[in-house]
Amino acid sequence: MSCVDLTPELVDTHAHLDDRRLHPQIEAVLDRASHAGVRQVIAIGTTTEDSPRVLALAEAYPGLFAAVGIHPNEAANATDADWKSITQLASRKHVVAIGETGLDRHWKDTPFDLQRAWFDRHLELARRLDLPVVIHCRDAQRDLIEHLSALNRPVRGVMHSFTGTWDDAQAFLAMGLDLSFAGMISFTNKNLDTLREVAARTPADRIMVETDSPYLTPHPYRGQTNEPARVAVTAARLAEIRGISLADLAALTTANARRLFRLPPDRTLG
Ligand SMILES: [Zn+2]
Repeated sequence: MSCVDLTPELVDTHAHLDDRRLHPQIEAVLDRASHAGVRQVIAIGTTTEDSPRVLALAEAYPGLFAAVGIHPNEAANATDADWKSITQLASRKHVVAIGETGLDRHWKDTPFDLQRAWFDRHLELARRLDLPVVIHCRDAQRDLIEHLSALNRPVRGVMHSFTGTWDDAQAFLAMGLDLSFAGMISFTNKNLDTLREVAARTPADRIMVETDSPYLTPHPYRGQTNEPARVAVTAARLAEIRGISLADLAALTTANARRLFRLPPDRTLG
């Protein structure tokens, strides 16, 4: 008997699949993702060590794609040789974005001027290869807005795991960046109502979902390791926040992710 498949198709736009909590059981992780309706996952690099490994995953599993780069908190000891290896990886097949890059004032792992210099390198590479950038921002929204405004050109990319205010959101949207929301929108903390309000107001053609696995596990699974399957939980919460059905939310976030990252719709998890 045939039946209509009502599972919504989702894209997890940000997962650290090379993490030791996920990589050793990658087949089971992808199987659970597939059963939860996740069709595609972007595996994110943060160093010269994990970037080739997330690319290897993207080469091995249809439905996986890679972003390569050096995270601002990992940039302190990065060298020119490291950058050369990122630039070489960046033009390989199945690399769909540059990053993650960005600015971070929370952890003081990398001097801020050095973070800015590495961010510029990523922006320039992304522009040269016509790839979107995956931007990390922690306690540095104003710095990022200033930095990007000074470029005087639109930037194609995503503010991943967005946590800024509606003013910040409008500034990033105006500069061409899309917004991706992670599990925090599902946390029950009252002070996150303002973030939920931002998620409700973000234009329908500029919004995406992600897990940021293995971090930011959505409610009610907090405390467990996060994995791409859980993007379905965040998507359901986001649908509720926006007052639309999960099917509609999945359709629009998936279309947005496929457009930004130019994901071929026929290369999917099983
Ligand atoms: Zn990340």
